[in-house]
Amino acid sequence: MQPSYLRPTYIEVDQQAIYHNVHEEKRRLNAETALFAVVKADAYGHGLIPVARVCQEAGATGFCVATIDEALALRAAQIAAPILVLGITSAQAAPVAAAQNISLTVGDQDWLDDASNFLSEVTDCPQLKIHFATDTGMGRIGFTDVVALHTTAIFVEESKYFTLEGIFTHFATADEKDTIYFEQQVAKFKLMLAALPKRPRYVHVANSATSLWHEACQCNMIRFGVAIYGLNPSGHALAAPYDLQPALSLFSELIFVKQIHAGDSVSYGATYTAQNDEWIGTIPIGYADGWLRRMSGMTVLIKGQRCPIVGRVCMDQIMVRLPEKFAVGEKVTLIGRDEADEITLQEVADYADTIHYEIVCDLHDRIPRHYLPRRED
Ligand SMILES: *Cc1c(COP(=O)(O)O)cnc(C)c1O
Repeated sequence: MQPSYLRPTYIEVDQQAIYHNVHEEKRRLNAETALFAVVKADAYGHGLIPVARVCQEAGATGFCVATIDEALALRAAQIAAPILVLGITSAQAAPVAAAQNISLTVGDQDWLDDASNFLSEVTDCPQLKIHFATDTGMGRIGFTDVVALHTTAIFVEESKYFTLEGIFTHFATADEKDTIYFEQQVAKFKLMLAALPKRPRYVHVANSATSLWHEACQCNMIRFGVAIYGLNPSGHALAAPYDLQPALSLFSELIFVKQIHAGDSVSYGATYTAQNDEWIGTIPIGYADGWLRRMSGMTVLIKGQRCPIVGRVCMDQIMVRLPEKFAVGEKVTLIGRDEADEITLQEVADYADTIHYEIVCDLHDRIPRHYLPRRED
């Protein structure tokens, strides 16, 4: 969709907050442990390339993405650091990945057989770096069987097409207080690791939650995602060991203000009817921007005051009830701080009965991103 630059709705990304969150995490890690910044899904809606650059300044030595296209976008921006694609990539893309020095995730022998065929068609193709995914309880991708993993590791050692750069697993419950399932996954991962004839360069299990709340097991890399953006992966369940600073704010303006009278209704379905004379403001954002229909009733901040969204959320506009007549052009804060009050992504997610991960990923690129520069240390 065409970004709408001339509409007064925009996202502000505080690069200092991103720097702070990565830097604080980096300080907690021992010197051998690499921090790979997870910048999939356009850096959780914050903007792939600007976020990647700040992460590098703050000490990230590599990146994780979800798709090969996201990895290629980093390379196209001249980012030369190691990149791991976390999902399974089509085997056809193996030669492109090898040529661009992009590491791919492998979850079974069949994929390697397919990729070998594609790689054999390319002359002078560099070896493809791979990481074995092991499924220790997430039930998503990866080896579940120790013997199969061992056999495939031998195959890779003997293959001229691949080099084993890493092995990893992903936890299903690292953000929960109860650690029983987590410990079961750790035990399985240790068996998986022991099935390799040689320890690869990177051994990694930690997403943000694991790195924040668990002792890493024989690992030397973390996949640090949502906490980069200042969001607590557990929601309310666990306190982070340092202050996570939220990086994203969402602002707009009142573009229309009017008075309505008792009995007048607002928006589709006429679900909201004024009880008295009321001032209503219209804001240019809607569900096409990712401000979900279920945000009806949620508040926004104007002049430090909470104003509820009244009636249904439209595709491109919402209406709010104002405490008094406010001027057209008045700043509106949908996410972020306004005077003494703040609307956090967690509050928005709670209201929408989902997780903040989903809210940020839904914020559409129709909304332009503005970047606040880093402050001097
Ligand atoms: C997305 C993802 C991460 C990052 O998770 P956060 O909770 O955002 O830190 C790490 N590892 C894998 C395999 C992922 O898919």
